[in-house]
Amino acid sequence: MPDRVELFLFAGGYVGVNPVETGVANVCLLVNYAQFARAGRTLPGMFAAMAAQNAAFAHRMQGTHLLAETLCTVAAVDTNRPAAPWVEMACLGDTATMIPPLCGDGMAMALRSAELCAPLAHDYLRGACSLSAWRDRYCECWQAEFTGRLRLGRALQRLLNHPPLADALVASGRFVPRLADYVVRTTRGA
Ligand SMILES: Cc1cc2nc3c(=O)[nH]c(=O)nc-3n(C[C@H](O)[C@H](O)[C@H](O)COP(=O)(O)OP(=O)(O)OC[C@H]3O[C@@H](n4cnc5c(N)ncnc54)[C@H](O)[C@@H]3O)c2cc1C
Repeated sequence: MPDRVELFLFAGGYVGVNPVETGVANVCLLVNYAQFARAGRTLPGMFAAMAAQNAAFAHRMQGTHLLAETLCTVAAVDTNRPAAPWVEMACLGDTATMIPPLCGDGMAMALRSAELCAPLAHDYLRGACSLSAWRDRYCECWQAEFTGRLRLGRALQRLLNHPPLADALVASGRFVPRLADYVVRTTRGA
């Protein structure tokens, strides 16, 4: 496939496909429990259900096969967990909040939260500030850095849960590329 990330929507979730090394593609999807149960709680069943709903995804998957040894699932992903950058101690990365998938950058955000926290931890450890000053400053920096993009990511996610709205949103991005560009930049904190 071309060197790009392709996203496909279906009822209850979305799936992304992108090429990796050696001619293999990575397929990563997020789906709610109800839809996964309806598909028989197996990944091949889920792939068939997504292909039945989304012709473009079915087309992309034509002639491909799953590499069974690479299958991996994660459960209990709560995309609405409220943010808490400090709970008795500094929380970095995913411990502070669940990154809405449409922010698309959880690894970079985790690294950035460490970058924000490390100098403050250093100040505390060398006695240059109190624990509460470390906490307040870290929470302030964290909120300033992430709150806006998380809010937009969650709002988009709620819209994409409704197929007609999702179609309208994707179409508006196609007709007004600057809007799509704005959404991508803002959810990445640019
Ligand atoms: C389905 C899915 C798709 C995603 N896709 C993307 C993507 O395409 N791009 C992107 O940037 N982000 C993506 N993310 C988000 C990204 O994976 C996370 O935001 C990021 O990994 C958070 O980094 P972290 O260091 O906070 O946590 P993690 O990467 O989860 O690291 C925490 C580590 O701590 C270990 N651990 C837990 N408890 C203990 C313990 N008690 N003792 C010792 N070790 C422990 C865990 O095993 C784990 O290795 C995706 C997430 C999901 C669920």
